[in-house]
Amino acid sequence: MPFLPFDQRDGFIWMNGALLPWKDAKLHVLSHGLHYASCVFEGERAYSGRIFKSSEHSQRFKTSAELLDFEIAYSVAELDKIKQLVVDKNSFQNCYVRPISWRGSEMMAVAAQQASIHIAVAVWDWPSMFDIEQKMQGIRLDIAEYRRPDPITAPARAKAAGLYMICTISKHRAERRGYADAMMLDWQGRVAECTGANIFFTQNDVIHTPIADCFLDGITRRTVIELAKRRGIEVIERRIMPDELASFEECFICGTGAEVTPVSEIGPHRFTPHAISRALIDDYSAEVQPKQRAA
Ligand code: PMP
Repeated sequence: MPFLPFDQRDGFIWMNGALLPWKDAKLHVLSHGLHYASCVFEGERAYSGRIFKSSEHSQRFKTSAELLDFEIAYSVAELDKIKQLVVDKNSFQNCYVRPISWRGSEMMAVAAQQASIHIAVAVWDWPSMFDIEQKMQGIRLDIAEYRRPDPITAPARAKAAGLYMICTISKHRAERRGYADAMMLDWQGRVAECTGANIFFTQNDVIHTPIADCFLDGITRRTVIELAKRRGIEVIERRIMPDELASFEECFICGTGAEVTPVSEIGPHRFTPHAISRALIDDYSAEVQPKQRAA
């Protein structure tokens, strides 16, 4: 086994109002969230003991639940406090943070109006490894068969478990074909994002990225756009068609997990990670560190 399974680890998981020993944080097999995908989650990271953009993630968590027609009955400030408590209790400095909320077991049919809403927060070790030269080699992306759905067919802006079904299938297929990940098109055939990260391109020192109108508008995506603008780099959000890929110079993906990761290949297209990718890797790694408080 390559690593300890996630249900076998030690530490504490916050669940429905209490910190539980890790192995006791269980749910019943008859849970609506499991059967009908009434489940939303977040993916966050703590750096040097502090969660980066915690409140934005807490807000998105609540919004995702609302889009799935349920309510997370904690405020953003309360969620921020709970998440920090779990990071501290597990004594992590650099870790991944996973809030999750799902409908419980009271009703096991499509409708589940009276089902209880459960919430848990788990954290696990995720050191920030930073070997820029290795990163600058870039990763290879396949092109996924599945497309991001039309927002009138699914709550596309929610970070909802059900929307990851096509991501897992696409990433598995990419890995079997020797790629690190897959780039997904959207329902109209435009470039959209990767299976767990947003995508950017450069052309003549200008950054181009798809409009996030049918996929997750990543918190990292928004951070990177801000960082690029701070450097005076123009960022254009627009429709990008796959036949344009040949005209781009650099490509990188970004997300909480991926941070800023350069791309060297997408299917038949080649990119050369260069100055803009390098600058944004540096800027992002500086940005995620907790700000020093004035004495
Ligand atoms: N798209 C998808 C499908 C994702 O899973 C993620 C990671 N949460 C992102 C984009 C990037 O989002 P963020 O920057 O908020 O992590």
